[in-house]
Amino acid sequence: MDRLKGKIAVITGGCSGIGLGTVERFVAEGARVLVGDISDAAGAELAARFEGQVAYRRCDVTDESQIKALMDEAGSRFGGIDILFNNAGAGGAPNRFEDMTGEAWDSVQALLVRSVALGITYAIPHMKARGGGSVINTASIAGTQAGYGPVAYSTAKAAVIHLTRVAAADLARDGIRVNAICPGLILTNIFTPAETVSPGLATLIKQTMAQSAPNTQPIEKAGVPADIAAAVLFFASEESAFVTGTHLLVDGGLGVGPRNSWDPEMRAERQRVMEERRAAFAAAQVEDVQAG
Ligand code: NAP
Repeated sequence: MDRLKGKIAVITGGCSGIGLGTVERFVAEGARVLVGDISDAAGAELAARFEGQVAYRRCDVTDESQIKALMDEAGSRFGGIDILFNNAGAGGAPNRFEDMTGEAWDSVQALLVRSVALGITYAIPHMKARGGGSVINTASIAGTQAGYGPVAYSTAKAAVIHLTRVAAADLARDGIRVNAICPGLILTNIFTPAETVSPGLATLIKQTMAQSAPNTQPIEKAGVPADIAAAVLFFASEESAFVTGTHLLVDGGLGVGPRNSWDPEMRAERQRVMEERRAAFAAAQVEDVQAG
């Protein structure tokens, strides 16, 4: 409690999932939060729920003028920005390069990378006004290895990790730290976008994911927004005062290695296959000797 007492935070994508979990945690830790999102009804509800501590402003992070307006509102309403959580995002089709178009590529990069760069740019004067600050960018395990997300999405998240390093170098002497978090599988609405998934199917997908999530990674529990919020809090607070330009996987160990390195069933299966091969090899050697 009170680890962010007196701090002013801006959180994009704060109306749902990881962003919402972080708003809740930041409020509990004493921060005032300006949420930028495109879910106006949810934003109004959030501001009413935490009246006086949370404000909402519509901000489509693909629109430069709206990003600037969000940061400027934090300045005029609260007097500056101590913490910026660049988090808004969506899955971003297509899954494979053979289905890519220039338009699809550009829109994913605008949503996931350009938004982060411009968020930082327009937060700088408001952070300087507070004597420095902490920026946290949401990357993904998909930005560290292939196979965890659609191709443009994964490329964008890798760019966020490097953008984080570059920004950290650029801004350290201004007293601004920049770090990234890389969530693994976290149960949120990102897998069931309302534009393409019907409410009935969304419920089914969520139920199925909730059942299988604990067995997705070495740590046998489903990843939830609060798990990410705890890591964001570390980067936001003074406890990470000597940490900048890094990224932290918060993934229950999903990134440690291939499944057979941690799943006992797959390890047993691998052992069985190896023993079969050894036996076949030994039998072939015996036949060779007998043949002469
Ligand atoms: P989520 O529950 O869908 O939350 C994302 C929020 O961002 C929603 O409120 C969404 O609004 C908003 N948003 C989407 N496009 C926006 C735009 N152009 N401008 C402003 N806000 C926008 O998803 P989440 O899982 O919490 O995702 C948060 C971040 O975590 C994303 O950057 C995502 O890539 C990353 N991430 C998630 C996971 C995971 O497993 N969940 C893993 C790795 C990384 P609408 O609901 O109206 O679209």
